[in-house]
Amino acid sequence: MKAIRVAQPGGPDVLQYVDIDRPQPAGSEVRVKIAACGVNYIDIYHRTALYPLPLPFTPGLEAAGVVDAIGPDVTMFKVGNRVAYSSQIGAYADYALVPQEKLITVPAGIDLTSAAAVMLQGMTAHYLLTSTYPLQAGQTALIHAAAGGVGLLLVQLAGQIGATVIGTVSTAEKADLARRAGADHVILYTQTDFTTETKRLTGGRGVDVVYDGVGQTTFEGSLNSLRPRGYMVLFGQAGGPVPPFDLGELNRKGSLFITRPSLFHHISTREEFEWRAGDLFKWLGDGKLNIRVDCVLPLSEARQAHIKLAGRQTAGKLLLRP
Ligand code: NDP
Repeated sequence: MKAIRVAQPGGPDVLQYVDIDRPQPAGSEVRVKIAACGVNYIDIYHRTALYPLPLPFTPGLEAAGVVDAIGPDVTMFKVGNRVAYSSQIGAYADYALVPQEKLITVPAGIDLTSAAAVMLQGMTAHYLLTSTYPLQAGQTALIHAAAGGVGLLLVQLAGQIGATVIGTVSTAEKADLARRAGADHVILYTQTDFTTETKRLTGGRGVDVVYDGVGQTTFEGSLNSLRPRGYMVLFGQAGGPVPPFDLGELNRKGSLFITRPSLFHHISTREEFEWRAGDLFKWLGDGKLNIRVDCVLPLSEARQAHIKLAGRQTAGKLLLRP
């Protein structure tokens, strides 16, 4: 079968499209024939070893497909079932082995491409808004990279909660997408100081929460955009990792809260995983959530997908098709 392999960490060129043996499921493993796999920012952290993995490895945490073979202890799935997942390395491939407890059934009516597109970024938006800082109607949220994969989902769901949404983006085209997703205000943070503008938009008060997946380049400004006792949710580092930080700043800036959450701690029980994935499938089915697929590239073009994502050239979801 074909797969993308990384033998050494590095730039996009280390993503090699190669032939490897099709894996055999053992124990409670399920072999999934992948219909589409998601490209996520964490795949870049894995490729560059910002988050190191044992080498060599096949990148990709998220996919949807059809059960093709099962291990002897599998009880939850049968050959032919349509499934999706978001927390098992090895999705950039024709087939992947996934422990049964990490798989969810894709409901009839949801196509496999949409299922692959919504799992990781969708469940991230879900836990950030329901568990990390449960956003309420009437509150104001600042959402960075508002036209990104996670960003467009956060904007839609935050707006539906009844919160006021201020989004930041780098281009006018992305601003348009964020507005259409429901952002009340959009700031071009490459041209305008977003803290000054956020303070102006909130009458000097500051926002209740910042959802910041950009990191280094926005971190300080995000803290300065919060109201006293506001919440800084640092959930990523597309703009680089945040350097060590003096906690005394939280006091000086107004008794602020800060957290650095991960999806994997929010879907670690079957109950939580089914809750979050179930909500997303329901919202997709109802038309409450709109997935914008930026593009679907052949698996062999994983390198190009990483160049686009790291180069800020995408808006919404990027997928690979084996
Ligand atoms: P996106 O589709 O949002 O792509 C990243 C976006 O970040 C870009 O499009 C760009 O938007 C913005 N950006 C700002 N500065 C830079 C820069 N220097 N280089 C590249 N991009 C930059 O990616 P994802 O939706 O996959 O992920 C968004 C963030 O969420 C990432 O930091 C990721 O790690 C994090 N994440 C965290 C999870 C968690 O559980 N903690 C789970 C999933 C994702 P613009 O052009 O508008 O500035």
